[in-house]
Amino acid sequence: MLEKFWNAVSYDIGIDLGTANILVFVKGKGIIIREPSIVAQHKKTKQIIAFGTQAKRMLGKTPASIVAVKPLRNGVISDFDVAQAMLHELFKKIHEHPSTSIFPKIPRPRVVIGIPAGVTEVERRAVQEAAIRAGARTAHLIEEPMAAAIGAKLPVEEPTGSCIVDIGGGTTEMAIISLGGLVMNKSIRMAGNEFDQYIIAYIRNTHNLLIGERTAEEAKLTIGSLLDVHNNEQKHIIRGRDLISGLPKAITIYPSDIKSALQEPIDTIVHALSDMLENAPPELVSDILQSGICLAGGGSLIKGLPELIAKKVHMPVWVADDPLTCVVRGCAKVLEEVDLLDKVKIVGGLRY
Ligand code: ADP
Ligand code: MG
Repeated sequence: MLEKFWNAVSYDIGIDLGTANILVFVKGKGIIIREPSIVAQHKKTKQIIAFGTQAKRMLGKTPASIVAVKPLRNGVISDFDVAQAMLHELFKKIHEHPSTSIFPKIPRPRVVIGIPAGVTEVERRAVQEAAIRAGARTAHLIEEPMAAAIGAKLPVEEPTGSCIVDIGGGTTEMAIISLGGLVMNKSIRMAGNEFDQYIIAYIRNTHNLLIGERTAEEAKLTIGSLLDVHNNEQKHIIRGRDLISGLPKAITIYPSDIKSALQEPIDTIVHALSDMLENAPPELVSDILQSGICLAGGGSLIKGLPELIAKKVHMPVWVADDPLTCVVRGCAKVLEEVDLLDKVKIVGGLRY
């Protein structure tokens, strides 16, 4: 009876708590929030001053009294209080969003959250608690690789092997799925943020130029490519500090520079993937040989990456449609299909 009432007045949301980006899907409305996972917080009062894009703009520019925090290191809540406050802001934002203004003023959403596979029971509880305290009515958790696979439309419930590799900001999560469960999974701390660090190191070593994280990421997004043949007419100017003179300097870099810089991190990912495939049941590997390895996450958008991985693991590799939204779309799908949710959720929803 109470459940019926809640269903009538409340709404369902899916959340991808990524290390780089947070996405929110509201049932019947679509993806209404896409923000960087950053909050700006007052140091003493702990009050949240800004969230998302607004907070990102403050990074590196805050006075002593304000700190910009990323509360989700490697996809796990590293700062519980901040994460809870952030979820609170998020729910407020959802509620204030023009598309949800028709909702009644009792915002107690039913929530499905994607969290990394292989986090501890304590960490899971922390995420669930944070969601409930921030105002969720029930909070179900599903593993990110599962959510990504569902979002990528892989046949996760079938008795066939599907392989997903989600290259995010903090971690790359890979898994082999069959019959609605993860048969194998692996998470490594090598993903988009680390790619940027390798670009910084490469530019420092080859050009004696010190550049910042945002400059490195921008170069990656603009000319990043791992293709064999490059169009080296495509160039990009970066600015930093010359390590010899100590003065600001600008240099021109090319796609081949990014390719050299990313060699090692890509090898690390390929190595982990090969390792997982080598240890997987042969029947499933033979299925994957047919269907291919599916890439998701922002890191999968680097030009030439699927081709390079395919060459190294000797298997077909393809990128999911809209790889940045796979996890949140997967969460959205399980909100709509109760049977699927029951099959794939990892902890029973806490109920109030
Ligand atoms: P998370 O799930 O951890 O929040 P995302 O899947 O949102 O991570 O991916 C964020 C990462 O993807 C960042 O490191 C970003 O630089 C990278 N990224 C986004 N778009 C591109 C692109 N077009 N080319 C290369 N890297 C990209
Ligand atoms: Mg992600």
